[in-house]
Amino acid sequence: MQADPIGGAAPDFDVLIIGAGLSGLYQLYRVRELGLSAHVIEAGSDVGGTWYWNRYPGARFDSESWTYGFSFSPELLQEWNWTEHFSPQPENLRYCRFVADKFDLRRDIAFGRRVTRADWDEASRSWRLSIDDGRTLTARFLITAMGALSVPTLPRIAGIDSFAGQSCHTANWPHEPVSFEGKRVAVIGTGATGVQTIQEVAKTAAHLTVFQRTPNWCAPLHNALITDAEQRDIKSRYAEIYQQCRENVSGFIHQPDPRSALEVSAQEREAFWEKRYGEPGFGIWVGNFRDILTDRSANALISDFIARKIRSRVKDPVTAEKLIPKNHGFGTRRLPLETRYYEVYNQPNVELVDLTETPIESITPAGIRCGGREQAFDMIIFATGFDALTGAYDAMDIRGTGGRSLKDQWAQGARTFYGILNDGFPNLLMVMGPMGSLGNIPRAIEYNVEWVSGLLRHMRDHQRDRVEVPRAGVDAWMEVVRKASVGLLSNEVNSWMTGVNSNVAGRTTRVLARYSGTGPEYRSRADAVAAGGYADLAFD
Ligand code: NAP
Repeated sequence: MQADPIGGAAPDFDVLIIGAGLSGLYQLYRVRELGLSAHVIEAGSDVGGTWYWNRYPGARFDSESWTYGFSFSPELLQEWNWTEHFSPQPENLRYCRFVADKFDLRRDIAFGRRVTRADWDEASRSWRLSIDDGRTLTARFLITAMGALSVPTLPRIAGIDSFAGQSCHTANWPHEPVSFEGKRVAVIGTGATGVQTIQEVAKTAAHLTVFQRTPNWCAPLHNALITDAEQRDIKSRYAEIYQQCRENVSGFIHQPDPRSALEVSAQEREAFWEKRYGEPGFGIWVGNFRDILTDRSANALISDFIARKIRSRVKDPVTAEKLIPKNHGFGTRRLPLETRYYEVYNQPNVELVDLTETPIESITPAGIRCGGREQAFDMIIFATGFDALTGAYDAMDIRGTGGRSLKDQWAQGARTFYGILNDGFPNLLMVMGPMGSLGNIPRAIEYNVEWVSGLLRHMRDHQRDRVEVPRAGVDAWMEVVRKASVGLLSNEVNSWMTGVNSNVAGRTTRVLARYSGTGPEYRSRADAVAAGGYADLAFD
């Protein structure tokens, strides 16, 4: 990379990064290590991304804390003590702050600023970013580290703005403590966020009404404090733990059982599932028989097992049936993990409203009108999800060569090269962009950041200052994405993972929205691109 390779004014920075969540923090660390100048623009007033914004009650990891943290620094691994196996949001935010301070990252981050527009300028081979404070910044490279689930969406319900009480989306939760004591609270939405919120609010609210449109299959989290002995054991085994995550299909610690659910006896199957149901974390989902997410009969069996669990935990049989999903099988949507979630519905202060029977008609100044009756509330909580994967990109006006718009280019669905590059958008590198690898998110982030950093190193070492993926490279990756999606039951179900969000115009039908192959396959292919000297890419 040259400071001023083509004779014009040098850009302000080598690299501009959007976002100071886990992706942006680690990307900044790696960019600095390459000796490049970098600046980060972050909308929040602090680092943390997801863990900065999602302060709703009960927010915590669903993957083991000790598989979630950064693995790149052995020193950091030894210094930081997780206190719970599934750490809560306040501690997760403290961790992000600890990382930022330990590596002195804050001095290159501008907080409380949003990028409104990004334009590629071919003449100077640089990106020009318009910031909402009126400034313009330029850089040779633009790295987006904006998160896959960072644009919250509110339901399109008549009167939503007329509510006179307190209301908020879970991802825009107030920084001040919120008390539910003595309050009549409504929660709309029963995804992973809604489930965590509901079980917490139910503890103190005078009355909680849950508005459920689609029930989700949930399984117990089994959280616990980390004992001193466990802490010592975890710290002595970090290398082994992260190796296990690397080998796992989705970056978690739970290894799938190589057997088919259909080849074992009913007794054996039941005993295996009882064991998994009693264990912490995602084992029942990703550490299950190999075919529960691909074979309809195997999926029907595990769904029946979980349905029986729900019936045994919810006293009222009518309520239990409402909580059992009927339109999708177990694990085909992201599994919410819970702590006494089903028992909440046995409490006298909790009511479940099934929106398939009585849809919400309107939100009024006093509360919610549904099924012909108006219920008064002091607070409405929207746990209604995100404009996932592409939302943060659509929210910004990103213009590539010849002024082409990324939003228009993705109008029929996002198309990328490994979730990192787009044709027509030189020097735009995405961390966790659409069609990249997901799974245990920090594990995917670390790999993604390291791949991007490897490309930057290659360009620095070979004196290149422009990289673009040809259309053929994107086509080839999208074919890999398409093939990987075949046969997965999750791709036959409406969810953010198949691009469906009823609250966003044009997102009502399923599309190929993500790479659903395995992490090891993704990494081996992406490693091969790097090992081949990035021959798939065009450099100048
Ligand atoms: P979500 O899974 O998209 O769930 C949104 C919920 O809101 C669904 O129950 C949805 O119902 C409902 N909803 C949306 N619009 C509605 C409307 N107009 N009327 C009634 N109901 C409506 O969103 P999320 O729960 O925030 O979770 C998103 C993702 O974030 C998760 O899948 C997970 O990847 C991540 N997450 C992670 C953690 C963790 O790691 N600890 C915790 C929370 C979330 P329908 O299903 O009918 O659309």
